[in-house]
Amino acid sequence: MFKLSKEHSIYSMSPNNEPVLYVPPNAQIEFETCDCFENQIKSSNDSFGGLDWSRINPATGPVYINGAEPGDILSVRIDKIEVAESGVMVAGKEMGPLGHLMDAHTIKIIPIKNNTAIFSDKIRLPLNKMIGVIGVAPKDSDIACGVPDYHGGNMDCKEITEGAVLHLPVNVPGGLLALGDLHAVMADGEICICGVEVAGKVTVSIDIIKNTPLPSPMLFTNSHIMTIASHEDLDEAVNIALLHMANYLKDKYGLPMDEAVMLMSLAAQVRICQVVDPKKTIRVEFPKDLLSYSQQT
Ligand code: CA
Ligand code: ZN
Repeated sequence: MFKLSKEHSIYSMSPNNEPVLYVPPNAQIEFETCDCFENQIKSSNDSFGGLDWSRINPATGPVYINGAEPGDILSVRIDKIEVAESGVMVAGKEMGPLGHLMDAHTIKIIPIKNNTAIFSDKIRLPLNKMIGVIGVAPKDSDIACGVPDYHGGNMDCKEITEGAVLHLPVNVPGGLLALGDLHAVMADGEICICGVEVAGKVTVSIDIIKNTPLPSPMLFTNSHIMTIASHEDLDEAVNIALLHMANYLKDKYGLPMDEAVMLMSLAAQVRICQVVDPKKTIRVEFPKDLLSYSQQT
C-alpha cells in the first residue's frame, strides 16, 4: 500500500500541481489528512480572528495515477476512514443561512469516543464519517479546494463514506487525485458551514475506466447510484444532477427517456449535500434494485 502524509497538501486543484506520488492504476493508497482548518484550532479558547484563512481546506496530494488519461473515469473506492480523537466546529456571524442570528464567532471542540461525537454532557451523536473534499485536477484552470465543481472538490456529500465508490472525470494525464476535509458527523445542508471537522486517514483503492467521459461526479453505494452536481444556484445544481441521471439511465440501461423521467419521479431522491460552499451541491439517488429489475424484464 502507498502512503501519503499530510505535509503533502494543496489549497487548489490544478493541472499545474506537481504530483507528490506516482502510483499504478490499481493502487491502494492511504492519505493522512488535516482538518479543514489545517489543524490550527487546538482549544475552544483559540481566537477565531487569529485563524490564518489562507490555510483553509487543504487536500492531501496530488497523486498521479499512471495510465489515467483525459476522457477516462478515475474510480475511487473508499475502503476506510479513520478519524482523530476530537474534532472542531465553528459557528457565527455571516456563516451560513443562520449566520445573522449570531453576533460573534464560537469555536467548539468535540471529543470523539466509541464511535460517538460528544456534543455536550447530554447530547452524543453517532458518527457518520465522510470525506468533504475529494477531486482531481480541472482541465485548464485552478479551482480552490473549498469549491466543488465537475472535478469533485468540496462537495461535502455525506454519502462519500466507507464502502462507496466515487467516479471522477479524468481531465489531465494522471488525474491528480487529492482529498481532505474529513467530517466525523455532518447532516445534509451543513448549515453552519461545517460538520465535526476532523483530521484523520483515508484508505482508497483506485481503478481506471478507460474512454468513458463523465460530465460530473457519480457515486455508487451498496444500494444506490448517485449523480452529484454543484452550482452557485441550487436550482441549476438540481437540473444538472437530474439530467446526468436521466442520461445515465437511458444510456446504461436502455430506458426510453420518457420512462427514465417517470421512473425518476417515482424513485430518485433529490437531496441536498450542502448549501454553504461557494457552489451548492446536490445529489440524485437512484435505487439499484430497480435497475436489476429493469434489466431482467
Ligand atoms: Ca467542506
Ligand atoms: Zn469540512
